[in-house]
Amino acid sequence: MEFQGSFVSHLESAIDGTRLDAHTLQTMHADRPLWVRYDLDAIRSKIDRDELAARDVSMYRYHELLPTGYDIEPVSLGEGLSPLLHCETLGQQYGLHHLFVKDESQLPTGSFKSRGLSMAITMAKHFGVERVAIPTAGNAGGATAAYAARAGIEAWVLMPDDTPIVNQVECDWAGAQVFLVDGLINDCGAIVKQGKEPMGWFDLSTLKEPYRIEGKKTMGLELAEQLHWQLPDVVLYPTGGGTGLIGMWKAFHELRELGWLDGHYDNDNMPRMVSVQSDGCCPIVRAFDAGERFAEPFVGASTKASGLRVPVAVGDFMILDAVRESNGRAIAVSEEKLDHWQRLATQAEGISICPETAACIGALEQLTREGWIRPHERVVVFNTGAAQKYVSTTPPDLPRLDSQKPIDWQELAIN
Ligand SMILES: *Cc1c(COP(=O)(O)O)cnc(C)c1O
Repeated sequence: MEFQGSFVSHLESAIDGTRLDAHTLQTMHADRPLWVRYDLDAIRSKIDRDELAARDVSMYRYHELLPTGYDIEPVSLGEGLSPLLHCETLGQQYGLHHLFVKDESQLPTGSFKSRGLSMAITMAKHFGVERVAIPTAGNAGGATAAYAARAGIEAWVLMPDDTPIVNQVECDWAGAQVFLVDGLINDCGAIVKQGKEPMGWFDLSTLKEPYRIEGKKTMGLELAEQLHWQLPDVVLYPTGGGTGLIGMWKAFHELRELGWLDGHYDNDNMPRMVSVQSDGCCPIVRAFDAGERFAEPFVGASTKASGLRVPVAVGDFMILDAVRESNGRAIAVSEEKLDHWQRLATQAEGISICPETAACIGALEQLTREGWIRPHERVVVFNTGAAQKYVSTTPPDLPRLDSQKPIDWQELAIN
């Protein structure tokens, strides 16, 4: 099928720059991911950034900068334009005047996975795919099931058998074929790879098709628009497969090249990208510390932040390149303190902070203490999912009241 009315020029191998045709459904090149490239000159002459403000409250408001362009109808559940919340109380804890949380917990299916999967399933449908499969640590499966249902496409979801129960249920309710696997997301991925031929699956794994990242890129576009076409100084991002971090970094560059940013951005003052992981699974941090471009598989991965339980990332070099080019950091924080940071942030601001983002609060604590983040810098933490999706992970130990007995109010007040 033809791309009509889109500004996509071609696809490009992220590992060696090989150009591929964007008019057919591509997957990877040399077993590594592809970038979607646009004719930015044509976009610049076609539209003015200030036209965007009048458009729909949706990530598809940026359609010139997306593979959908003018003609491809999105498979949408109303994703995008998540709030950018100024967090004064939490900021004060760390001596910051301009701390923001970009709250993705409010998106369809309760996580930012909706952005990538809306886009990937839109494009899969456009190219005539009828059956998709995805290995997932949890939220990607839920989003796949929902968007596949919306698109009328069959979804097969493979997840570790200890994936949060909400993820299992949301996939099942949306009519996906769901399987529990006695391993981690990479073991699920290996099964999807083997099953592609016999099952006729199109593989939606992170970065194994080129379009999820374009959906995630909209986080960066939105951030710029919400900051009145400026960029923040620091972005903290909880990293699993890394699509969001890579996508945002791509967005910032595209905006710069388009000339849509106010102020002068050169390589020294682009946002510093901080890739945050739990010390229970931190392959990217280890590679960063070792000065490597590719990460060794992390053995014995274990974290309650299921979105971070990704021992091997096919886009490892893309994450590490972005972090280094941005003068950023890769930081692992204590798995044992995730609960503490999750409560602290939720109690300070009322935002539904997921355990993945709790890791970012830990990184914020460390980086402000070190002085690497300074008091007047504009800092954005991504809250990638809703805390409610993890209820099975930490059932709270709550006191009980007996409805048949008189209540001792004095004792209750002390508690
Ligand atoms: C998937 C996920 C992540 C990690 O995202 P990547 O883009 O794969 O690095 C972080 N948080 C949550 C809640 C997730 O679902």
